Amino acid sequence: MIAPEEYKNNENGEETNSSAPGVYSSFIQDIIDKDMESNKYGGRVHTRFPPEPNGYLHIGHAKSICLNFGLAKRNSGLCNLRFDDTNPVKEDVEYVESIQEDVKWLGFEWDERMFYASDYFGRLYDYAIALIKAGKAYVCDLKADQIREYRGTLTEPGKESPYRTRTVEENLELFERMKNGEFEDGSRVLRAKIDMSSPNLNMRDPVMYRIMHATHHRTGDKWCIYPMYDYAHPISDYIEGITHSICTLEFEDHRPLYDWFLQALELKECPQQIEFARLNLNYTVMSKRKLLQLVKEGHVSGWDDPRMPTISGLRRRGYTPESIRDFCDRIGVAKTTSTVDIALLEHCIREDLNIRAPRVMAVLRPVKVIIDNYPEGQVEWFQSENNPEDPSMGSRSIPFSREIYIEQDDFCENPPKKYFRLAPGAEVRLKHAYFIRCEHVVKDEKTGEIIEIHCTYDPESKGGNSPDGRKVKGTLHWVSVQHALDAEIRLYDHLFTVPNPGEEKDGADFKDNLNPASLELLSNCKIEPSLADAKPGSKFQFLRMGYFSLDEVGYSKEKPIFNRIVALKDSWAKIVKM
Ligand code: ATP
Ligand code: MG
Repeated sequence: MIAPEEYKNNENGEETNSSAPGVYSSFIQDIIDKDMESNKYGGRVHTRFPPEPNGYLHIGHAKSICLNFGLAKRNSGLCNLRFDDTNPVKEDVEYVESIQEDVKWLGFEWDERMFYASDYFGRLYDYAIALIKAGKAYVCDLKADQIREYRGTLTEPGKESPYRTRTVEENLELFERMKNGEFEDGSRVLRAKIDMSSPNLNMRDPVMYRIMHATHHRTGDKWCIYPMYDYAHPISDYIEGITHSICTLEFEDHRPLYDWFLQALELKECPQQIEFARLNLNYTVMSKRKLLQLVKEGHVSGWDDPRMPTISGLRRRGYTPESIRDFCDRIGVAKTTSTVDIALLEHCIREDLNIRAPRVMAVLRPVKVIIDNYPEGQVEWFQSENNPEDPSMGSRSIPFSREIYIEQDDFCENPPKKYFRLAPGAEVRLKHAYFIRCEHVVKDEKTGEIIEIHCTYDPESKGGNSPDGRKVKGTLHWVSVQHALDAEIRLYDHLFTVPNPGEEKDGADFKDNLNPASLELLSNCKIEPSLADAKPGSKFQFLRMGYFSLDEVGYSKEKPIFNRIVALKDSWAKIVKM
């Protein structure tokens, strides 16, 4: 485990974390080291992050972003942002824009190197012609289900397509007519001519191009044939001069095909594909298809719903880029798939905010306390440190008066043993203020609900200090009634009730496991007046209640909304200690 203190800033103010394991001492770094030694790429390291703009980025993508940009930075190399936009039906500019925003927010720069696979449609087409001319690709008229049938299985070899023996001339003519839009969707494809009996199904004459009369978000109606990922990817990497093409493990079986295209085209100084295990996180789903469903069907308020594992959701929830980068370093990079406990992510944001977030007082579920022996109309201002972890963050003054709010939970009429908060006859400390003792309560006659708690205070305990060495066990947070500001607070729980909602065993739907209590809205919260000038997006520790972020979406000064990022209790820290 690495602590955030190990992040150091160099003279240029850049963050360096040379001691971090994860990205930097991974098996991928070992490969790079060897390539450097053998001068394979003339000392160059060039990676890319290649999202498909068919959804918003999630925390799994953050791992890939930290890895690709991180390795480039660490090895004085470059990392491109490339939109892998080869399927116009699912892609959209909204996604292109959100992806750029998210990568930048995470703290990475692509400078002028933002590309699109669609930039290369012309060159991909030319390379396809070259493969046809070399007798390595052919136009096939089998329909999709026939292609599947001819492909065979893991135990049976495939069957060759009857169109496999078309002449080069015929293939060139048909491929051009495909491009010119003469044929219907699904009527023909271009396939690589490899080996129908290969034990690797990906090598059994994979499809390179399909016909799709669809408008592309960048190339419009210029094209009606679109390249498949397996063909477009290695060529795009080659065109950009990528050296290390890092992707997730499910592409391991595609690597021979990746290499085949580059070799068949007799290209030099080719990129190499390296696979790593994708991030899985419990209590959430990470597939874009599933996240899209949650958005479309209204199970969440949008891609940036603070319960979503998307970067935009985490940002709105109050996660900082530093905490996400720290998380990505800690989980490391490996070849075997595993699931990471979401408690680790929560631990990372707590550690970050512990040193940076100002402490303030807010009462989430208020009940009124009246201090009967405190002079009516009097107000005292108490000094309070903003962050005990960092004296340089200064202090502020908080007003105290005869009527204050405390949490309903902090009073109990018939307390169980070891209840250290307020109860009839019991004495507690009000943080920074005074000791108070509960004398009696006033209840609503009809409902029996406690509406006022009457107390007396000890004037000698000013500042919350014991006057005579007597001890109180409980210290409560509070807000002065006449100075309190109104706020709304959203409390969050996991989006799903089970650790592995994506599994969908026995035909179950992942949405069956949605947590109906993942959002609790508290609309009558009272916060201390210093928060009047809080900026949207700023983060605080509400004493005893957790870390909160002032929501930027729909911000209003009259009734600000705070999202709870995490509670204070850290289950991960406990695990680590054990
Ligand atoms: P999904 O399966 O959710 O649709 P994807 O892999 O299709 O995701 P892309 O947009 O193609 O999404 O992903 C861009 C890059 O991010 C790829 O290199 C991919 O390997 C990587 N990536 C996606 N999900 C994860 C994950 N959970 N952990 C690590 N890397 C990931
Ligand atoms: Mg993908």
